[in-house]
Amino acid sequence: MTPEWTPSSWRGHDIRQQPTWPDPEALAAAARELAAYPPLVAFSEVDALGAALAEAQAGRAFLLQGGDCAESFAEFSPETIRSGHSLIAAMGALVGAASGLPVIRVGRMAGQFAKPRTADMEEKAGVRLPAYRGDIVNGIAFDPAARVPAPERMFRAYSQATATLAHLRELASKAGEPFYTSHEALLLPFEEALVRRDPVSGRFYGASAHFLWIGDRTRFPGSAHVEFARGLANPIGIKCGPSLDADTLLRLLDTLNPARAAGRITLIARMGHEPIAAALPPLLRAVASEGHPVLWACDPMHGNTIKAANGYKTRPMARILAEVRAFFALCPAEGARAGGIHIEMTGRNVTECTGGAAKLTEQDLSDRYHTHCDPRLNAAQAMELAELVADMLRR
Ligand code: PEP
Ligand code: MN
Repeated sequence: MTPEWTPSSWRGHDIRQQPTWPDPEALAAAARELAAYPPLVAFSEVDALGAALAEAQAGRAFLLQGGDCAESFAEFSPETIRSGHSLIAAMGALVGAASGLPVIRVGRMAGQFAKPRTADMEEKAGVRLPAYRGDIVNGIAFDPAARVPAPERMFRAYSQATATLAHLRELASKAGEPFYTSHEALLLPFEEALVRRDPVSGRFYGASAHFLWIGDRTRFPGSAHVEFARGLANPIGIKCGPSLDADTLLRLLDTLNPARAAGRITLIARMGHEPIAAALPPLLRAVASEGHPVLWACDPMHGNTIKAANGYKTRPMARILAEVRAFFALCPAEGARAGGIHIEMTGRNVTECTGGAAKLTEQDLSDRYHTHCDPRLNAAQAMELAELVADMLRR
């Protein structure tokens, strides 16, 4: 029998990718205060997204999810929000026109602040400091004071998410379209503080965003992040990297969607342009043969990160496009449907990924490299990717 779920039952599980808080009581006090704040999203909107994703699973809609790798306090401005929103709108219009399908627009916005890191510590010129874990936790400056995890940052993240959502709602209502928000549910004390119970249905919602996903580093069986997501009524994403085997994935699906509800699970494959050919088909086959209802989406960003000769983390457009092409070929070969894409992008004219029509080189990266974490497509590169997706879906 499955033990009872509560918003805090994750605390009894194996947890990774959390900061070491210098003052756990200050963290608990901040979480208690946040728990009294209003939800950021409405239960009915979360349910509407779940229903839309069920339509996408049935082949009657397509998921377009994108935004910053890490939102930051520094880049917060109406212009950042507007340009991100209009980029998703333009991509969605292109894909929608080509496919004849409704496009479900989901931003990595209004709450995408917490980051998993490869190493707990960062070392530069002999100085070792705690890694930057996103603006909701600590500061990006390589300086001892900035890197101390500070619970008050959660309030700033909450207020930035609130204002971003308000602005997104205004932009979406002008366009007459629903717009949804999403982020990795990584910082569990924050996410737990934002759980709200619907008094009518009795169901618990992660009220920090419409859609929450579990990262590739925290989706292992027995993980606190899986336990937390298990009890939420939200649609849940699972990042699927090359180290995920079919049996583990099936166990995760049984844990997270025992009722096999349509629209509940989106599997976001992020394999890399070469590993995808061998790594994705066994997962597609296992899920199909078990009959688990899922939406398959492609994240062509996270498996294609390289270090440029001049030290910048970058992603070549050719590899990103190659992974998308491979995804669209591999899914139908296993009887699955390529149902969405998940990308890191910004409406601002950055130089973070190489290639594309403008042929950005590694030398160009230093011009406008602003990301707080992973390299993003700029607007022109994102539209190029949307052209490819439109081609794949055209009929
Ligand atoms: C991300 O989406 O920024 C991320 C860290 O992805 P993944 O969990 O797939 O590595
Ligand atoms: Mn990222």
